[in-house]
Amino acid sequence: MSDSDSQNKKSKLPSTLHVMRGVEGGHDGMPGGKPHSSETSQKRRNNNSLSIEQYTEGILNGDRTILGRAITLVESNSRPHQEKAQELLKAIIPHSGNSIRVGITGVPGAGKSTFIEALGCSLTAKGHKVAVLAVDPSSSLTQGSILGDKTRMEQLSRDTHAFIRPSPSGGTLGGVARKTRETILLFEAAGFDVVLVETIGVGQNEITVRSMVDFFLLILIAGAGDELQGIKRGVMELADAILVNKADRDNIDAANLARSEYERAVHYLQPATKGWQTRAFSASAIEGSGVSDIWTVVQKFKDITVQNGEFKNRRKEQTRQWLHSMLEERVKELFYSDERIKSALPDIEKAVMEGTIPAAQAAWQLLNKFSQ
Ligand code: GDP
Repeated sequence: MSDSDSQNKKSKLPSTLHVMRGVEGGHDGMPGGKPHSSETSQKRRNNNSLSIEQYTEGILNGDRTILGRAITLVESNSRPHQEKAQELLKAIIPHSGNSIRVGITGVPGAGKSTFIEALGCSLTAKGHKVAVLAVDPSSSLTQGSILGDKTRMEQLSRDTHAFIRPSPSGGTLGGVARKTRETILLFEAAGFDVVLVETIGVGQNEITVRSMVDFFLLILIAGAGDELQGIKRGVMELADAILVNKADRDNIDAANLARSEYERAVHYLQPATKGWQTRAFSASAIEGSGVSDIWTVVQKFKDITVQNGEFKNRRKEQTRQWLHSMLEERVKELFYSDERIKSALPDIEKAVMEGTIPAAQAAWQLLNKFSQ
C-alpha cells in the first residue's frame, strides 16, 4: 500500500475509531501506514532494530508496545521480516498454547461485535486477559468490515486487559490465516488466556477459523431465514454451540422459538467435536442476558474435551494441517515464481485453451520442467 493509499484509507475512518488505542507506537500494525510524526518514524526504526531477545522478553513480560510490534512483524509480507518473525515464533512457542481459543461467526449484523464486547468485558472483570482478532480476507476491499469498524467494541478497546486486533489488511485467506495463527501464539505468550477470533459467515472463512480454534460459536438471529444467514448444514456441523442473539424486547418469543428449532436440528447432525453435544442457546448481547451462560458452556466444553483427550488431539491435528497448508502455499509460490515456468506458461495456456493439449498433460509438462 502506498502512503497516499494509506492516507486515503485513514481519512475515511471515523474519528471514533478506538480499536487501536491503549497501545503506543507499533500497535497500529497496519502495513504501509504513513507515519504521523518524527516520533512515530523513530519508533518504526526502533521496531526494525529490536532483537529477537528484546521481542521475546517484551512479549513474555506482557509489554503491549512490543507485542504490537511483534504482530506487525508477523503480518509483514517482506521476506526478511518473515524470517525474523519465524525466529521469534520459535522462541515464544514454548510459552504459547495456554489459552482457550474461541471462534465466533455469523452474518454481518447478527451481533458478533456486540456479543464480543459484552463477553470480553465480563471476562476482563473476572481477571481474564482477552485478545480479539479477526479473519476477514475481504477487509482490504471493504476497508475493514470487521473490527476496524467505527464505534464497535468501544468499551473493550479501552480495557487494558484486552487487546483488539483487526484483520490483517490485504492478502488471500491463506495469508490472513497464517498471520492470525501466528498472532494467536504471540498473544498466548504475552499471557492472554482467552483468544476470540471473529469471522464473517461467508464461504471458506468459517472452515478456516474452525481450523484454528478449540471452540466454535455460530451466532444467528431469529426470523432472518436460514438462506439469508448463509446457514448451510455444513456450517452448523462446524459449531460447538449455536447462539440465537437479540432475544430481547418484542423479539424474545421469536428468538426462543428459533433456538428450539436449531436445538432440534443439531441433534440430527454429526457433532463438531467428539464427545460433545452441540446445543442452541439464546441471548441478548445488548442487554447482556445469556452471555455469561455461553461462557459456562465454553468452560464445560474445555473440561470435557481436556478430560477425553479431544482438546489436545484437535490442537495437534490443527498444527499438522497448518504445516500442510504452509507447504502448499510455499510450493505454489515457488512454482509460479520459477523463471522456466513463467516463460513456458503463456504458450502452454494458449495451447490448452485452443484444445491442442489436454489440461492434465499440460500440467505434467510444466511440472516436469519445474522438477528438472
Ligand atoms: P456484527 O456485524 O455481527 O458484528 O453485529 P453488531 O454487533 O455490529 O450488531 C449489529 C446491530 O445489531 C447493531 O445495531 C447492534 O446494536 C444490534 N444488536 C446487537 N446485539 C443485539 C441484541 O442482543 N439485541 C438487539 N436488539 N440488538 C442487537
